[in-house]
Amino acid sequence: MLPIQEITFKPELPKQVSVAIIGGGIIGISCALALARKGVDVAVFEKGTIGCEQSSRNWGWVRSIGRDIKELQLAILANEFWQSIQSQIDVGYRMTGLAYLAKDELEMALHQKWIDASGASGARVRLLSRAELARFLPQSSRTWDGALYSAIDGVAEPTMATRGIAELALANGASIFEHCAVRGIDMSAGRVSAVVTEHGVVKCADVVLAGGAWSRLFCGNHAIDFPQLKVHASVLQTAPIDAKLDVAINGGDFTCRKRCDGGYTVSKLGASVADLTPDSIRLSTKFLRAWLKERKYLRLRFGRPFFDELKIPRRFNIDGPTPFESYRVLDPEANNGMLNDAMNCLKQTFPSFANATIARTWAGMIDVTPDGLPVISRVERIPGFYLGSGFSGHGFGIGPAAGAVLADLVTGDRTQVGIEDFALSRFCS
Ligand SMILES: Cc1cc2nc3c(=O)[nH]c(=O)nc-3n(C[C@H](O)[C@H](O)[C@H](O)COP(=O)(O)OP(=O)(O)OC[C@H]3O[C@@H](n4cnc5c(N)ncnc54)[C@H](O)[C@@H]3O)c2cc1C
Repeated sequence: MLPIQEITFKPELPKQVSVAIIGGGIIGISCALALARKGVDVAVFEKGTIGCEQSSRNWGWVRSIGRDIKELQLAILANEFWQSIQSQIDVGYRMTGLAYLAKDELEMALHQKWIDASGASGARVRLLSRAELARFLPQSSRTWDGALYSAIDGVAEPTMATRGIAELALANGASIFEHCAVRGIDMSAGRVSAVVTEHGVVKCADVVLAGGAWSRLFCGNHAIDFPQLKVHASVLQTAPIDAKLDVAINGGDFTCRKRCDGGYTVSKLGASVADLTPDSIRLSTKFLRAWLKERKYLRLRFGRPFFDELKIPRRFNIDGPTPFESYRVLDPEANNGMLNDAMNCLKQTFPSFANATIARTWAGMIDVTPDGLPVISRVERIPGFYLGSGFSGHGFGIGPAAGAVLADLVTGDRTQVGIEDFALSRFCS
């Protein structure tokens, strides 16, 4: 296995590469790995450090169950990628199994509905009866009716994963530049010809934007109205504890998964807040359905973020400093009240967590689209420009596969799974 090394900023930018990738999250880095393996000369430009935003802040679930059926093939392909990556470098990937617990018959019926729609059957993805579920859980003060369970789902460590995949990309010939914001793209003869970075211009034939929460701002400056908003989500980590729970679970009012360091990552689906901002007002008609659908899990809030966003220019000159340099890393404060609630629910549900202590809390900004599905697509109006963004809170698990599919798109190969549902044209041209 390869050891994980420090990836340091290389001040010497190349004059030219074939493909420039904007964003060193799991999507951009996985795309770089796939392109490098195809023999393409590829460079990643990251304004902060590898995985510094969503990709290192998430729960670490590698999940197929409960997904939109349209993402299922990508999730199945991703499971293969994770196994292969873990065999080459330690990213903390483990097939622990993952269960959505059902508190009553109604929830069991919803889980059954997902199984029917997904076509999943057999021993690996199924409903667990009350008695079967009891074998996976420590003693519980609550009665569960059963669970939706997948034996092939699991977890990886977000703080290790993207950096580990970056090591593989470097070993395959990709270049990675940290602390190097891309201000915009240059065009010539009607197509992409270069990326303009804060350290100079790099000519290229194709550009992939994997900018996470920043993709809308970047696209907007090139007159592409990509409808993407940010959702604030909080997470906590416990100190190591022997709580006798190995499977990752969603208990409704808490989620919990075991970490490689012996602690647990805890949160809850309802720990997300959508701050009202000028963009959310602009996009309100597009997002109304999503907000109504997610109202059980998402709180709308009006406050400082509205005025903070007003200070960020929507159009800017790419010859000078841009917002991508002013805001190196999105590092919002955690909502500790919500996290304490999740922790208390976990403790009340499983006495084996009674002595668990909180070691750390953090938060991240999730990039969401109106239909909760990502965009993995050509940008038709700008030949040579590709977009991989809007993973709507589930891009870590499918990240390695999504990046590889983006790479297929760039090289003109048949994509390993169908991506018609992820076209940008469903929102704008
Ligand atoms: C709290 C939380 C919990 C989550 N839990 C899960 C989970 O359990 N399972 C799951 O599958 N998903 C989960 N997600 C979602 C998942 O983390 C994301 O979908 C995924 O990491 C997105 O990867 P990305 O590469 O698109 O974006 P990011 O990781 O956000 O990376 C984008 C990168 O682009 C860089 N960038 C942007 N603009 C520029 C520019 N102009 N120049 C240079 N660099 C730029 C940014 O600095 C950033 O590093 C969660 C997310 C959060 C926040």
